[in-house]
This record gives sequence, C-alpha cells and structure tokens, in this order.
Amino acid sequence: MTPPLVLPCLLSLLLLSLSSPSISSSPPAPATVCVVGSGISGSSLVHFLRKYSPEPSPFGTIRMFEKNAVVGGRMATVTIANETFEAGASIIHPMNYHLSNFTSLLKLRRRISEDDDDASLGIWNGEKFVFKTLNLNWDFPLMKFSLVKKIVSLLNAVKLFWRYGFSLLRMQSFVEATLNNFLKYYESFDTRPVFGRVEDMLKWSGLYNLTRRSLKDELVDAGLSSLLIQELVTVITRINYGQSTSMSGLAGAVSLAGSGGGLWSVEGGNWQMAAGLISTSNVELHLNEEILFVSHHGTYYELNSTKRNSYKCHVTVFATPLDELDINFYPPISIPERKLQHTHTTFIRGLLNPPYFGLRTIREVPDLVGTIEDPNIPFSCISVLRKHNDDDITYKMFSRKPLDENLLDQIFSIRKATIRIDWAAYPHYEPPEIFAPFMLDDWHLYYMNTFESAASAMETGAVSAENMARLILSRVSAGVYSHVCGKESSAFSGCNGDLHKDS
Ligand SMILES: Cc1cc2nc3c(=O)[nH]c(=O)nc-3n(C[C@H](O)[C@H](O)[C@H](O)COP(=O)(O)OP(=O)(O)OC[C@H]3O[C@@H](n4cnc5c(N)ncnc54)[C@H](O)[C@@H]3O)c2cc1C
Repeated sequence: MTPPLVLPCLLSLLLLSLSSPSISSSPPAPATVCVVGSGISGSSLVHFLRKYSPEPSPFGTIRMFEKNAVVGGRMATVTIANETFEAGASIIHPMNYHLSNFTSLLKLRRRISEDDDDASLGIWNGEKFVFKTLNLNWDFPLMKFSLVKKIVSLLNAVKLFWRYGFSLLRMQSFVEATLNNFLKYYESFDTRPVFGRVEDMLKWSGLYNLTRRSLKDELVDAGLSSLLIQELVTVITRINYGQSTSMSGLAGAVSLAGSGGGLWSVEGGNWQMAAGLISTSNVELHLNEEILFVSHHGTYYELNSTKRNSYKCHVTVFATPLDELDINFYPPISIPERKLQHTHTTFIRGLLNPPYFGLRTIREVPDLVGTIEDPNIPFSCISVLRKHNDDDITYKMFSRKPLDENLLDQIFSIRKATIRIDWAAYPHYEPPEIFAPFMLDDWHLYYMNTFESAASAMETGAVSAENMARLILSRVSAGVYSHVCGKESSAFSGCNGDLHKDS
C-alpha cells in the first residue's frame, strides 16, 4: 500500500514533468563530437564543423583521437641523411581549392618545384627504355640559359607528340572534363545539396559512371591509342596509385590530373595543414590514443581506448579507412569489403647503377624511371628527390612488394642510407566500386573514408569532410528541433531514412 504522504509528492512530480518544456522548445545541450583520425579528413572536418556552426553552436567539445604521436596520417615526412622529404601524400593540384584555402588561412608557404616540371622521364619495360625525354636538369653550362631550357622542353613535347600523337590531346580532354565535374563540389550552398550517400554525391556531379568502369575502358572510348594507355597512362597510374589501368575511371582521372603542371606542396610538410586546422578549431586532441571499441547507448556512444579511458560522445566520426583496423562496434556495423593497395616506399641516398638499366653513365638515367605493367619488374618507379652532387642523390622508389637488400644492391651502385615505409596507401580500385555508407547507423556514427573508394587524395578527403560537416549539422539540428523517430528518441537520435532518402 502507498503511504499517504507519497501520493501528493508523486502528483506534484507528474505536474512538474507536464509543465516542463519539451525537447523541441528548450535549447539542447551542445553535442560532444568525437573524431577518430587526425589526417586531412579529420582535420578538415573539425575545421568545417566550427566554420559552419551557427551561434549558439550545437557542438560543444570536439575530441580528436590519433593513435600515432603526431597528426597528419598519410601526410607525413621522412628524414634521410639529415634531409626531410614528403613520405606519403606529396603533390597538390592547382585546382585543389580546399587545400589552397587552408594553406592561405594558416599562412603556410607553398613550394612550387620547377625542377619537378623539368625532370626527365624514361619508360622502362624491364629490359630497355622504350621512351625517354631529354634531361633539362643536368648541370651542363648551356642549361643555365632559359632559352636553351625552353628549346629542350619544346623538343620533349615534340618527342611525346611523335610517339603518342593526338591521343595526348584526347587524354587531356578526358582529364579536363572530369576536373570540371569535380569543380561542382565548390559551388555555393544554394545550388549544392547535402549528400547522405557517396553514390548521390557522385551522381550529382556527373562522376558516378566513372566509378563503374575501368580507366582503360574509359580511355579507349575517349579515343586514346593502346600505346599511350600501355605506356604513359600506365606509368602514371603505377606512380600515383600503384595500380594498373584496370583501376576505376575516376581514380584513374585523378591520377592523370596529378601528372600535370603547376603542382605544389606545403613548404616543410603537408602535415602542417592538419596541424593548423586542428589547432585553430578548438579541439581536445588525444595523441597516442587508439580507439578500440565503440558502443551505442541510446543518446551517446562510448569510445574505449588503448589507454583504458572511456569517452561519451553524442556524435562519432571515423576519419580513417576501417578496412585493416580491428575496431569492435556494438551494435555491429556492416560495410562492404574493400582491399587496400599497399605501397612500399623506399628512400635511398646514394647513386643508381647505370648498367642495371643497360646504360653507361648516370647522366643517361632519367630523373623519373616509370614502368609498364609486367610482373617481372620489381618496382613501380624511381624518382630523384634531390641531387646533392653528381654522385650523391636522394631517390624515392615505389613498389607493390618490399624491395630486398640484394635487389637494391643491383639497382644502386652506392647506398649510404635506406629507409622503408609500408603504407596501407589507398583502396585497391576494382570497378564497379561499391560504397560503404556515410552514416553507419540510424543515429550519429559517421564514416568519412568511404569517399576514398571514389578517389583517394588529400583534396577528396577535404571535399568529403566539407559535405560531412554539413550532413552532421543538418542531422543534429533536425534531431534537436523536430520530433525524432525510433525507439531511442533523443536530442541526438536521427531517422536515417526520413532525412536522406535513397534515390
Ligand atoms: C605513398 C602515398 C602517396 C600519396 N600521394 C598523394 C599525393 O601526392 N597527393 C594526394 O593528394 N594524395 C596522395 N596520397 C593519398 C593521401 O595521402 C590520402 O588520400 C589522404 O592523406 C588520406 O587522409 P585521411 O585523413 O583520410 O586518412 P589518414 O591520413 O590515413 O588519417 C587517418 C588517421 O587515423 C589514425 N587512426 C587510425 N585508426 C585509429 C584509431 N583506431 N584510433 C585513433 N587513430 C586512428 C591514423 O593513425 C591516421 O593518422 C598518397 C598516399 C600515399 C600512402
């Protein structure tokens, strides 16, 4: 039996709860956002979340977790024999507008290397160079005159045209058409919707079909000769993605765009973009802290880390490829299987061995040795990073498998220092591409690196982040200010189907 005094208390509690303002009329507590990964995707996301938030902001604390001791992820530097070079993502296209804006905003300096544009190219088939351009960089006295350089550069253009003909112009048109479609992602909010699915984002810009077919098929349809595809195009896809022309047309086009002129990088390292964006976005940064377990508890997620810490987050965003990670989710998530292409990057200070290439002198070896598809060729490319003097050069090699000491001793006549990095570099593209969702559940668990299945690059990471910031804002706001669905209805729950219908 209920004691007499308890009944009035219960009644007053009931009245209190009825008269208290509902969720939709009281200002909600700001959401805690947790971002896993401090590369360009995670750092651009926190930048755009802060930039696009209205006042008062729906976001309170933003925490970022990074398992490494430094930020930047695949934007990292390597120091070999006291000199520092980009170890991962190195080149930025002149039309990468987000990266360009970040660099200006953070007052970073650009490095535009004219030497790279002048580098000589040789296409190696495992036995001989099937094509070589003239070298503009060697220290011949006449090369000091810009007119001589211009003439050599013109001769190289003629050489290229002689071998590949008008197919070169068709390749350029293919790349320009793709770039023009990509430019739609910089349109204003008035004309550019918020996308809840990668497929919709790509269809809207006209790029989706390029992810359904191989680069090779796209280029054949565009009228390119098989010689150009087998040689120059293959060299480029092997350098930029470690893959053949069987990769998807879109990633292939991004790769070809990355071989044009006007490329730049950030002086001192591209990772500084991530560092700057994080430090200007009021982020609680947790370095050396890996997230191992994520569980959903109605209105929030609990993240558990290697430091045995546990964090409550209303919104959780994965800004790293999940493919090779061992993270447990409760309830479990389901994403399509995706293989990553490993690129073994080997840095060597020393000197190449000309006889390995059937040549007599080092001056005959091109600055950039590209390769065609042949399983017997053990590397994708070798490029000169810096010429210290005629017999002391720093090189970078890419290969699909690690290069053993024996092989390196054949390729190099002098080797003073060697550094190896095994990158889980980018997706292995196999069209038609299947995309994991941006939204991993019906609440607020998001995945940025599904967009890498379209094309992996620093700028695509930033483009994905910009859309993701708008997506999170729209869903958090909708969850706060309109009535929400689902059993676990709360200020931060959402209705995946209601807000972003699949087309
Ligand atoms: C060798 C190489 C060359 C490249 N060249 C270019 C180029 O020239 N130009 C270009 O634009 N792009 C290039 N790319 C691609 C480019 O690097 C990537 O597309 C881009 O940097 C990806 O950024 P991200 O932030 O999405 O992922 P990442 O940079 O991989 O960042 C993810 C971060 O998450 C962290 N992390 C992972 N799991 C956890 C966890 N459980 N807890 C906490 N932290 C975690 C990782 O340590 C990492 O720092 C290259 C890549 C490689 C490997």
